[in-house]
Amino acid sequence: MELTLADIVLRVRSVLLPMLLTGIAFFLVLNVQEYWQHWRPVTRELPLWLFPIAALVSLQFNRSRLAYLAILLVTFYCMNRSIIIDSKYLLTYKVPIFLFGSLSMSLLLLMKDRGIASIHGFLAFFTFMACAGLTFNIETLLNHSNKLLTTPLAIDDVTLTFWAATAIIISIGMLVKNTLTTTTISLAFILWSLLYFQPHTIPIDIALLGIAVLIFLSVLFDSYHLAYRDELTGLPSRRALYNLVLSLSNKYCVAMIDIDHFKKFNDTYGHDVGDQVLKLVASRLSKVTGGGKVFRYGGEEFTIIFPRKSVEQTLEHLEAVREEIQNYEMVIRNENRKNTDKSARNKGNSKNKTVSVTISIGVAQHERKQDFDKTLKAADVALYKAKKQGRNQVCS
Ligand code: GH3
Ligand code: MG
Ligand code: MG
Repeated sequence: MELTLADIVLRVRSVLLPMLLTGIAFFLVLNVQEYWQHWRPVTRELPLWLFPIAALVSLQFNRSRLAYLAILLVTFYCMNRSIIIDSKYLLTYKVPIFLFGSLSMSLLLLMKDRGIASIHGFLAFFTFMACAGLTFNIETLLNHSNKLLTTPLAIDDVTLTFWAATAIIISIGMLVKNTLTTTTISLAFILWSLLYFQPHTIPIDIALLGIAVLIFLSVLFDSYHLAYRDELTGLPSRRALYNLVLSLSNKYCVAMIDIDHFKKFNDTYGHDVGDQVLKLVASRLSKVTGGGKVFRYGGEEFTIIFPRKSVEQTLEHLEAVREEIQNYEMVIRNENRKNTDKSARNKGNSKNKTVSVTISIGVAQHERKQDFDKTLKAADVALYKAKKQGRNQVCS
């Protein structure tokens, strides 16, 4: 996978923003203690209920890693509340428990979401058991190795190094694959570390409640994304378009966009290349100026909504995007590249090819008291006109 500097900047931003928001949320919560201190008997009970529900909801949405996180934290909280074992053991095993949690979270970040009741679930279980074996015997291991060393290692230094290693794994993992799930796991790791290094900053029940809320939010946003985003292009889907329509004022324009001769394009270059072109066209369309909001209507058709604009005001923006796509030489990755050996690649057998397509656009203005489908139909009629007049043009 190739990571450009722009990708990294984008990922750092999408990592930092949720972290900043969570930080602000906790800052506010901790600064208005007088409002919730009398709720403490309730907040102390809530993690015991919310984590199991969060685990079930996560499993329902195939987010097994979040389910594991919830199970891990509810187990810890049960220990803290002396439900499973006496909480005095938390003090005895403070270091191993902390290291086990940190290591587990870094593993969760590297794992994939797979069914719990499958071979992957068994593997995950045994991996966690192995981690427990390692971390709960860390002092014994340290004692053994200190016998061989001239300068013995202190447990605190080893703990810090071990934790730093998990922190590095988590940071790198986040940059390589940044999703809402990985962000949630990282935030849980930060709070987990805070509870260990600065235990008096946040009450444990409040920190865990925060993580439970993050798990719920992550599943909620993810399912919203699933419902309202088109998987191939990443653009909002037709469902999102009809959602936006509900909030539009009376004045707006609808543009329908259709790629020219795309069937022939698919027949010539294959469906996979067609898919790549759809993605590239979508990404260009999404940069349309004039406040246009772009949606994938379906197939090789897109819709742009220009709120508060007349047809005349949209034309220059649509012309600009049409021209840009006409001049856009798209570089198509050779999918056989992975399969060809290096010598074949060097001979240029698998050179990336460049292709280009054109689009036709029909635009119509919404009339007062007219329903959206009528305006869409009018844009479709204008699109048909553009096709009939020779394609690669904007018609109204
Ligand atoms: P026209 O200029 O009149 O629009 O010609 P056209 O060939 O683009 O029109 P038509 O609507 O007949 O064909 C649309 C084609 O778009 C059919 C299908 O092969 C292709 N297509 C639709 N959705 C996808 C997709 O998700 N991926 C790919 N690769 N092709 C798609
Ligand atoms: Mg079409
Ligand atoms: Mg077409």
